[in-house]
Order: sequence, then structure tokens, then C-alpha cells
Amino acid sequence: MGTTGAGEETSEIREGETTLVVPAVARPEEGEVFYNPVQRLARDVSICVYKCLAPETLCDALAASGARGVRIAKEVGARVTCCDRSEAACSLIRRNADLNGVEVEVVRSDASAALSAGHWDAVDVDPFGSPVGFFDLAARAARRHLAITATDPAALCGVYPRVTRRRYLADVVKTEFYHEVGVRILAGFAVRTAAKYDVALRPIFAHSSDHYYRIYFSKETGGRRADAALESLGTLRWCRKCLARGLGGTGCSCGADAPIGPLYAGELFDWDLARRALAEAQARGFSEAAGLLGAIAGESRMPAFHYDHHALCKAKGVPPRKLSKVLAALAAAGFRAGRTHFSETGFRTDAALSEIMKAV
Ligand SMILES: [Zn+2]
Repeated sequence: MGTTGAGEETSEIREGETTLVVPAVARPEEGEVFYNPVQRLARDVSICVYKCLAPETLCDALAASGARGVRIAKEVGARVTCCDRSEAACSLIRRNADLNGVEVEVVRSDASAALSAGHWDAVDVDPFGSPVGFFDLAARAARRHLAITATDPAALCGVYPRVTRRRYLADVVKTEFYHEVGVRILAGFAVRTAAKYDVALRPIFAHSSDHYYRIYFSKETGGRRADAALESLGTLRWCRKCLARGLGGTGCSCGADAPIGPLYAGELFDWDLARRALAEAQARGFSEAAGLLGAIAGESRMPAFHYDHHALCKAKGVPPRKLSKVLAALAAAGFRAGRTHFSETGFRTDAALSEIMKAV
């Protein structure tokens, strides 16, 4: 144990190849430096993804203790700029950089001011709460890649539809595949925000874990590319009775369907990137990250909008049998079927709902 410059208690921990001095506070007050142990998995994954993306420069715009930024400097080898408006955070970041023998540029600044003043190959935005205020500046400050964390999944996945409407300009209802909906609304909002500046964002990797969403985008510039990016948005209609869903319409006759969107309806995961990131995680001994990356590599190139085994059984009025048996039945009938990282009881398939119900 020790203390930060501001007198807060600290402890020393190890993540990957990096040693970090972090504040010992579990629940920070406004303005205190925060280290979130729950996001260790997200940082392990980001090391693997960034290693594959190979940015020369990266900005960690809300760096806090510098856990992510210093790790990226040490374990990926990028030239990292860490920004934080708190002097206690900045001194902690410097201390962590020194401790690991890496050079990190530390900027004591509001994230918005820092992002409007520079450009980096990759920009990482990991705020405490909604990232909604950072999209415009981050989309312009990034040259090639942008990663965004949202720690307000309830505001995206259908728990608070009014918050979703005013914050992310989208309609939402709570479905049985709500975390995928939340990630896709967030991605859709990012694509629309960037398009204003003739910037095309395309999701290349995303995950939903322990009360946060994280999406990585590739960035290109040009009006036509931005137009093409907008083509990947749509409004899903979902029926709460029969669970039918479809872009533009459900094709069911219950009359109980509702619109969800606009949301990003395209591919969330770049298959090749997921596979290479998985190999990184395995080589580095990041077992939990490898599990997540393996699941995502498996569900990339599968249809969007997963189904939920238990919800289907409830709609049909039958007790659930093993999901593996349902997947085997679908595969035996000639359909693609596989699990999703979004939910333990979820699965993706290209089978029509009537075929899925037979398998269930
Ligand atoms: Zn229906």
C-alpha cells in the first residue's frame, strides 16, 4: 500500500506484463481517480486487438490511473498519449509509466480539449458512464481506429427506452437479445455521428461483458464511404408474442411488433481480426480473454440478432432441453447454428423461425 499525490491509498497489482499502482478505493467519489478491476478482461482483450491493429500512436482520452494506456505502451508498443483532467490521475499515470520503463505522454486536460487538439492512429474512449459526448471529437481525432466503451448498458438495451431515445436517438424495447440490441444501437449512433463529418465508421470487433459494452471501429474518410456506412443501418421490427424479427418487418400476423432502431445491422466482428486476437490471447496466457475471443470468432460471419433458447421455449410452452441438442438438430436439418458470447442461452442461426421452433 502507498498513497497517490492526492493522499488516496494505493495498492500495486499486475495485469498482463504490466505492474500498476492503482487507487484502493472501490467506489470513487466524483473527481477521484478510478481503477476498475472488472474491466481487466476488457483491457486484456484490448491488448490482443490493438496488437493486431498495430497503431503507431494511440490516445487514451480518459486515462484515469493509466491502466489501459500504460499497458498498451508496454504490451503493444504503441506511442501512447494519456489524458486526464485530474492532477492526481496524471501523477499516477507518470508513476505507472516509470514503474514499467515506458514513455507515455501525459496530458492534463479535459478529454474533449485533448481530442480536438490532436490526431492519433487509434483513439480509445473509456468514460465513467455514457460515451455520448465524445463521439464527434473522437471520430475526427482518430486516423484509423476508434474504440468506445459504454458503461451505461441499461440506457441502450431496453431498460430505459426514454433515455435511449434522448441520448442515442433510437427507439428500443426490451427483447430476449437485449445486449446485442444495445451494442447495435451504440454502433448505429457512432456511424450516424461520424457520417456528419464525411467519416465512415465500421465496427470490426465488439463485446458485451459485466455491465459494459465495448466496440472497435475502423475509420475511413469520404462522403461516399460515409453514405455506404449509413446503408448498414436499419430499423428492426420485433414481435413480443411470437418472437419473429426482421429488418423492415416481421412477417408475423400477431400485430404485437415494435420498432427498434435505427441500429447497426451489419457484421459486428471481423472474423480474421477475432481469430488473430484469439491467437494473441492464447500466446499471452489471457485465459478469460481467450474464452471470450474464441466465442466471438465462432459467432462472427453468423447472422445478426441472436435467438434465446429459453424465450423460444416459453413462447412455445415447452420445457427447455439442452441448447447443444437444439443446435445439433438445426445443423442436422442443414442450417448454420452456433452460440453467441452475448448470452449463455443465446444462439445464432440462419434457419427460419418455424424451423427453429421445430428444433426447440
Ligand atoms: Zn408475432
